[in-house]
Amino acid sequence: MLDKVVIANRGEIALRILRACKEMGIKTVALYSQPDIHLKHVKLSDESVCIGPARSVDSYLNIPAIISATELTDATAIHPGYGFLSENHRFADQVESSGFIFIGPKAQTIRMMGDKLKARQAMMQAGIACVPGCENLLGDDEEENRRIAKDIGYPVIIKAVAGGGGRGMRVVRTAAALSSAIHLTRMECAATFSNDGIYLEKFLEHPRHIEFQVLADSFGHVIHLGERDCSLQRQHQKLVEEAPAPGISAAQRTALCNKLIKVCVDMNYLSAGTFEFLYEKGQFYFMEMNTRLQVEHPVTEMITGVDIVKEQLRIAAGEKLSLQQSDVQFRGHAVECRINAEDPVNFTPSPGRIDIYHPPGGLGVRMDTHIYSGYSVPPYYDSMIGKLIAWGHDRANAIARMRNALDEVFIQGIETNIAMHQNIMNNPDFAQGGLDIHYIEKTLSQH
Ligand code: ADP
Repeated sequence: MLDKVVIANRGEIALRILRACKEMGIKTVALYSQPDIHLKHVKLSDESVCIGPARSVDSYLNIPAIISATELTDATAIHPGYGFLSENHRFADQVESSGFIFIGPKAQTIRMMGDKLKARQAMMQAGIACVPGCENLLGDDEEENRRIAKDIGYPVIIKAVAGGGGRGMRVVRTAAALSSAIHLTRMECAATFSNDGIYLEKFLEHPRHIEFQVLADSFGHVIHLGERDCSLQRQHQKLVEEAPAPGISAAQRTALCNKLIKVCVDMNYLSAGTFEFLYEKGQFYFMEMNTRLQVEHPVTEMITGVDIVKEQLRIAAGEKLSLQQSDVQFRGHAVECRINAEDPVNFTPSPGRIDIYHPPGGLGVRMDTHIYSGYSVPPYYDSMIGKLIAWGHDRANAIARMRNALDEVFIQGIETNIAMHQNIMNNPDFAQGGLDIHYIEKTLSQH
């Protein structure tokens, strides 16, 4: 087993990784930026190293500082969590070439799947349908671009080939608006991703976002853990996730997952991964693959009983997966609400000191968070401060428990989006299940 793991992340996911390591008897090193010294996992880890000032580029994205801290503490492996460097193939490559284990797929896999056009091509070759779109990067020829968009059919969505985090996307509804939208998106992508490559996809009007979790070990053994429905989003950011996806049959799940497993075997996939699809009118369309642990992994853990982070650690240590496909049983239903420190009306971040925090509890309730009474949420990072997850024997029971838990959780000192989640959990449309990705924004615009 791994001897000592460096946690190259912060917040709730750093704590989540620390818990898995401790359970497995693995020593931990917490890396933190100067203002993050009071993070819970920093206090609980065996060792901790400050890797730089507040700005992410100087700390959590500072590759030389992270590698040095790993050398200094004589650690074996690095877990990147999600966000930050988790899908950076150069980082994965440098970790490995410095003699450490990157807890994730191989650098070349991250590079290939991180290029959304290459990922689409790989999936199409495997006989998996993608959202209709162009096969090559858009050039500068406006006439040609208009022809491509017309062939796809309006509305279209311009997407960054290197995009992520819901950024670098723009919907275009008419030919007249195309050229300026391409120009604008290209500039944004160059600034955000240091890559101005963009392409077009058909913009689907009423899809659901459904994604599939896989695990692969170094013996070519790949399993799936079913799907999650992450359709409730605002500005392409997920707010509520659940597993299983309402209305998806076991036959649909198995048919698609068998193909996904084959794709993983063929590309020597390693560790945890997620295939994201849009689902409309009974048809799945591949959108992208995330080559890392997802924020919403707990809903899958709750219905399968599989600890995804522990499996990642086993795989990184060169061990076999602890279970086979036939061992995976889906039990009940789980819902997750992302708790953000933000203004409930205009959604702007609301950092600051949490004076009082009371966690929720009860059977089937899980709160993954690093916050505590007296903790100050810094203004420098993502506004998500925790994830509340509720499990029930069926969907209605999971939602009922989530309602209770949202009533119980008490955070004083900063603004949060808890009231919005309470509205969603009491919404009769949500109770029906199967809402599309535009539902929240449409509902909000009506208020
Ligand atoms: P990112 O890597 O930034 O997360 P994705 O490709 O996963 O980008 O897309 C994020 C979200 O944007 C999706 O969950 C969906 O809500 C929306 N989206 C992306 N592509 C399309 C499309 N072709 N039609 C409609 N919505 C889309």
